[in-house]
Amino acid sequence: MGKRAKQPYDAFLVLDVEATCIQGAGFDYPNEIIEWPVCLLRWTDKTNKGKARTLEVVDEFRSFVRPTWRPQLSSFCHALTGITQEQVDAAPTFPDVLQSFRKFLEKHKLIDATGQRISHFCFCTDGPYDIRDFVVKQCFMSRITIPPWLTWDIMDVRRVVGEWQDSVTASTAAPRPNGVISRPRRMTFSLQRQLHALGLAPFEGRQHSGIDDTRNISRLVVELARRGWKLESNTSISPNRRWPWMGKRGKVLEEYYS
Ligand code: AMP
Ligand code: MG
Ligand code: MG
Repeated sequence: MGKRAKQPYDAFLVLDVEATCIQGAGFDYPNEIIEWPVCLLRWTDKTNKGKARTLEVVDEFRSFVRPTWRPQLSSFCHALTGITQEQVDAAPTFPDVLQSFRKFLEKHKLIDATGQRISHFCFCTDGPYDIRDFVVKQCFMSRITIPPWLTWDIMDVRRVVGEWQDSVTASTAAPRPNGVISRPRRMTFSLQRQLHALGLAPFEGRQHSGIDDTRNISRLVVELARRGWKLESNTSISPNRRWPWMGKRGKVLEEYYS
């Protein structure tokens, strides 16, 4: 059994958004968030010295989100995510979903009613994209400032799994002559491959369903903790990042996507 690491965080919020997309448009597209699923993880065995290794999912938050710039989902987006037009049509818009999610954070004593931090928590995502790109774009289009609590501490789990794999490879395999140890490029290190790399059972549920992605990312985080890995923030975001299609006051410059 692995050692117990001293763990700086008390709680983890695993988040995997789904967003509108069109085939071949790439990741600079003005994606609008259509699913906001979160798993809350807490330690069951943290000592007063901060050592712990057992994480448990204690609650989930999930809402679909209604897009407003392009309310109609492409057939590509529906096929990718499984999300239906009816589900997003019936859903609240992004600012309302953020309000409900904020209540969830208050209920769990992560922030107080004024939005101040009252517990040490870290968001966890698969790659750096969810908050850095999708949330920043969505806040621009919704004409709101990004809530501070979304920007404080973020862990890119894919990167951590890669580092964990490197540490194992380095200790068990002879490096190639040039000293390089190979692992899948970051873009192709799917959740399925990450689960396999950690010796876990295959993906459970439907890939690219936000809630199922979130639950499977949670399995990775639980396993990294069990193996004694110190779980820390490893990425940051720029709330004022701009994309070429961004016009004035939340407008998408239509000439980019007509
Ligand atoms: P994922 O968490 O991998 O399911 O992806 C999150 C979001 O990224 C999706 O809801 C899409 O908006 C976008 N996305 C993922 N894969 C693709 C793709 N192959 N082409 C276009 N957009 C994609
Ligand atoms: Mg994702
Ligand atoms: Mg997903």
